[in-house]
Amino acid sequence: MKNSDLNEYVLDASAFYAGLPFTTITKSYTTTLVFNEVRHLKGSYSLLDTIVETDKLRIVDPNEESVREVKSVITKSGDSLKLSEADISVLALAHQMKKTLISDDFAVENTAMLLGISIKALGTKGIRHVRKWILYCYSCGRVYGPRTNECLICGNRLKRRFKKLYSS
Ligand SMILES: [Zn+2]
Repeated sequence: MKNSDLNEYVLDASAFYAGLPFTTITKSYTTTLVFNEVRHLKGSYSLLDTIVETDKLRIVDPNEESVREVKSVITKSGDSLKLSEADISVLALAHQMKKTLISDDFAVENTAMLLGISIKALGTKGIRHVRKWILYCYSCGRVYGPRTNECLICGNRLKRRFKKLYSS
């Protein structure tokens, strides 16, 4: 991941509920569905308009291919009932743009993991750390991309773990 990518994020609704775009974020993206949802937040209406006007927040919708890919993953993982269309749209956008997604929603985080999207989790204490799920072989330690199931050297089934990118 390049450093420049760490400065631009895709935000889900929970990131807005945490007030994130109004404080720490320099440049971020979200979808029409999420934006319409968070517009109803009390007192945030003019602030949201301001950050859109100043281009701190850009509204972009994912392409159909990316949405289909997300839907296929959540059908298999069982998260489809836990995710709204707005959740699906930001996951698809982060996947398509290859940007870090900020979320505080477990089903969103889990789906991001399955898609190989890096996640910045929010918590009660604010942002904890940037992390990315990686696949590795417990025998030889080799690390693989999200589409591999077995170690090409040992043939072992790969395990998942979080790779911590940095703390804040
Ligand atoms: Zn191996």
